[in-house]
Amino acid sequence: MAEPFVNWSGSLRFTPGEYAQPGDEDEVRRLVLRAREDATTIRPVGSGHSSSPLVRTDGVLLGLDRMAGVIADGGDRATVWGGTKLAALGEGLYDAGLAMDNLGDVDYQSIAGATATGTHGTGFGFGNLSTQVTGVRLVTGTGELLDVSAERNPELLPAVRLSLGALGVVTRVTLDVQPRYELRRRAWCAHVDWTLDHLAELVHTNRNADFYWYPRSDLTQIRTMNRTDEAPGERTWSMGRVPGSDPWRAPREIKAGPTHRTIPQARDLRFEEIEYMLPAEAFAACFAEVRRRVRERHRRVAGWRVLVRTIAADDIWLSNAYGRPTVTIACLQNTSLPYEEYFRDVEAVFRQYGGRPHWGKKHWLTARELRPLYPRWDDFQELRRRLDPDGVFLAPDLARLLEEA
Ligand SMILES: Cc1cc2nc3c(=O)[nH]c(=O)nc-3n(C[C@H](O)[C@H](O)[C@H](O)COP(=O)(O)OP(=O)(O)OC[C@H]3O[C@@H](n4cnc5c(N)ncnc54)[C@H](O)[C@@H]3O)c2cc1C
Repeated sequence: MAEPFVNWSGSLRFTPGEYAQPGDEDEVRRLVLRAREDATTIRPVGSGHSSSPLVRTDGVLLGLDRMAGVIADGGDRATVWGGTKLAALGEGLYDAGLAMDNLGDVDYQSIAGATATGTHGTGFGFGNLSTQVTGVRLVTGTGELLDVSAERNPELLPAVRLSLGALGVVTRVTLDVQPRYELRRRAWCAHVDWTLDHLAELVHTNRNADFYWYPRSDLTQIRTMNRTDEAPGERTWSMGRVPGSDPWRAPREIKAGPTHRTIPQARDLRFEEIEYMLPAEAFAACFAEVRRRVRERHRRVAGWRVLVRTIAADDIWLSNAYGRPTVTIACLQNTSLPYEEYFRDVEAVFRQYGGRPHWGKKHWLTARELRPLYPRWDDFQELRRRLDPDGVFLAPDLARLLEEA
């Protein structure tokens, strides 16, 4: 009997039939073919940082920890094993004089896992991490090795860049990279009204900008990042007072350094999270309603903060920024506190404003509700049935997400 699997936040627990840690692509192929023959399911797993049940299976849980590291780099491309953790990837690229364009808030995830769910950072000039993927090698449900890039099977690229582990096991990822550079991170506090009034300026004059809203105090922490080698676009806000709030502080530098050591943060306290991606134009009204509900209905339990970030539009079929500049709202809750009633209530608001859920965080949508949100949904499902005709990757939780009952 295998050991139970527990995700990072602790809210997803199950015991797979078997854990597999293949060491090369032939072994991945053999495992897929065996599962197909046994009519069982395989779920690829990265670092287990998702809290939606994407990896749950009573069949084989397949991790690529033994297939990690940079395979090749040159020019503006780097090919890496799917099991490479983002922290190690950042160091490996840095040693080669390279860097990723943008990153999310932490670097614990694997590259295949992070891109499988559209993990994102912040900045209207940057797509999610999946948009940095220019090529993928995967082992499909028939055990075939499939290469997808601008040169090979390019029509499949918008599907395989973000595929939830539903099209196959991603063994290699090729990334668009650039010469390494340094960033300066700053942070300061302001009343939420001030932040909302200045939001457009903040996101358009900084390379990266986001903010945390603290429901109990109505204060925000604003965070910006800019390249150290470029004239800073950011305005240095003068000291002052925001009416009706605590004194707010001028921006102070938190740290400066290479991208992979400046963007990701250490997260020791465990939390649950719901995050929805909204059309940018819907943000103001949606945030106002979330703020109202949190303060009126959930203030007692909402012990944590709410994070607002931006993402550029893309053309990836299952990307939650597909076709629209996006503003995201994420509600975080300490794992020792109840979250479901709070999250379900704000989810109703997010949905009212056309939001699409983060694939790797808490949400309660199934294929029936998801399909109308994604213009290329049917194309993805058709490809999935072609690459995995026997449903080797389609464990019950994934089936609820992708197949209409
Ligand atoms: C503390 C914390 C901070 C976070 N910060 C951010 C953030 O800033 N921005 C953001 O957008 N998200 C964030 N997330 C969410 C996180 O980035 C995603 O849930 C991500 O998918 C987790 O990656 P993972 O390697 O843990 O993959 P897992 O959670 O293990 O798996 C996620 C998906 O990837 C698939 N997968 C994994 N490996 C493979 C493979 N080799 N081939 C095919 N499919 C594969 C799995 O089947 C599953 O569908 C955060 C989560 C936590 C816990």
